[in-house]
Amino acid sequence: MQRILQPGDIEALDRTSPQRVRLPRPVELFADRAARLAQKAQDNPIGDYLLFLSHLARAQQHAAATVQTAAPDAQAIAQAQEHSMPLLPAASHVDPAWHGVLDQLLDAVQDAPGLPEQLVPTIARLRAMPQDERDTLARRVLVGLLSESEDLAAAPLVMAALQVVFADRASRLREADIPYTDPATICPVCGTAPVASVLRIGGQSAGLRYLHCGTCATEWHMVRVKCSHCESTRGIRYQGLEQLQPGSAQADQTVLAETCDGCHTYRKLVNQEKDPLAEPLADDLATLLLDLLMGETDFARASMNPLLPMSDADPGPAVPGPEA
Ligand SMILES: [Zn+2]
Ligand SMILES: [Zn+2]
Repeated sequence: MQRILQPGDIEALDRTSPQRVRLPRPVELFADRAARLAQKAQDNPIGDYLLFLSHLARAQQHAAATVQTAAPDAQAIAQAQEHSMPLLPAASHVDPAWHGVLDQLLDAVQDAPGLPEQLVPTIARLRAMPQDERDTLARRVLVGLLSESEDLAAAPLVMAALQVVFADRASRLREADIPYTDPATICPVCGTAPVASVLRIGGQSAGLRYLHCGTCATEWHMVRVKCSHCESTRGIRYQGLEQLQPGSAQADQTVLAETCDGCHTYRKLVNQEKDPLAEPLADDLATLLLDLLMGETDFARASMNPLLPMSDADPGPAVPGPEA
């Protein structure tokens, strides 16, 4: 008897079709990120901070192995698909499991090497903070509404805990659940702008460019000719240290700034073909020098790195920047 093929079956049969969405495998993701941050901490102007973040990512890996978030809501999925909206927008779907994860991370990093001094009172403050205040802070961190310097200092720790619960939730979705969002420049799962994009190697993703969500770690495919911020196909260019600082001794082409003449922004493209261990969020942090050089051009950074909080009023890292 013949069976009618569903769209998912057809995609599975067609080995050549690009993988549209890569859902995270959180334990592996945080383990890879921790290793990459430790590797990139060497001879890096913000090496101490990267080393601290490597310990934080290792703690995220441990938390990800045991965290329990609520099962994705079937009704919310159907509604999002119908309206081409992100499945579970981050700020309105914070899973209460994040409190336990935050406590776990605070315990794990309080004595971590490289712990920035200004985070010592922040850790104490977050520990003592009532849950409702923590939830309010979490929502402000997620929408980027941070003006108080103490909230800015807390942001990387809050984001690290949120990343664990959002990645866990995303990991339990099926590719077929993920809507096609409009615009295609925000995460189809949680609605966050991508932190960077990555050219993947291996399997069905080989040679394809994915936008990487800094909140839930979902990756979604976007053709390379398009700007990852405004979707324009005209005037896309790449700039690396070699172009920006001729004669640069560290002219590594793994991370390039992709610039768009349409919206005058840039976002980094992390190329695994140049370095298979490259990890979008870690490599973005490890190339702050590229941001400093881009700061002298007329291209603005399209979106921030969630583990390096910047205030709108005072663009510059709130937690240790490169030594001048
Ligand atoms: Zn996301
Ligand atoms: Zn653009």
